[in-house]
Amino acid sequence: MKQCQVPCPFIALHSQDMASIRKHLLEGHQCRDAWVALSKLVQDARQRKDCLERASILAPDDEELQIAYLEARLAVDPADMFAQQRLNEIRTMRLLSDVKTPYFHEPPKPRLIGDILISIGAITEAELNEVLAEQRRGSLLVSDRRIGQLLLRRGMITPAKLAKALIIQQQERSRARTAPQVLGEYLVEKGYITAAQLEAVLTEQIRLDQQGKRYSLGQLLVRMHLMSKEAVEKAAREYEQIFWQQFNT
Ligand SMILES: [Zn+2]
Repeated sequence: MKQCQVPCPFIALHSQDMASIRKHLLEGHQCRDAWVALSKLVQDARQRKDCLERASILAPDDEELQIAYLEARLAVDPADMFAQQRLNEIRTMRLLSDVKTPYFHEPPKPRLIGDILISIGAITEAELNEVLAEQRRGSLLVSDRRIGQLLLRRGMITPAKLAKALIIQQQERSRARTAPQVLGEYLVEKGYITAAQLEAVLTEQIRLDQQGKRYSLGQLLVRMHLMSKEAVEKAAREYEQIFWQQFNT
């Protein structure tokens, strides 16, 4: 899998051409712009939502994208209370972000990842509050990833504990349909790797990330001799194709 830069030069040239965009994604590019471009080309509201969901997962800190995705969710289901609430939260925070009174800088609510870490006994509630307080200066849309990094940097959790919490979180999100199944989950479901192996790979990914080394899940599976490069590429293609089937293209 290849991570595309933003803006993606390929998509900049082919943003109106669905076939080219589809080919780009099926080649395994992790491309935010491709999903955004596709979301503008599809006619169906549900497909538009799916595209924006994919894009927002690739760029979790992109607030504009989160808004577009939540609006698309509401277009599909106006009674989607989660989307409505989240959208209101984001819009309110944006309105208030220029107002520099202490009143508006209440500590953010605990994030799901923090709750999970507490529930598996990795950290205490007091420790989570400490980290959340530290984040107060930044955006309230602090990503779970950043909280995880902060906990790691302060030596409050181990990479293994964070990996476990991230897997639990992904499972919960998939179950709640707030995120599509991710590649790692797909590999476990299809029996390519075990859940314990996925956890080990994620742990290694987090550990290397702390050293400033970025590896994709696929790269690490190969490095750790859990899957061959060919098998990873084949599985990634299958995974993309299953997603594409719903588009009937
Ligand atoms: Zn791209």
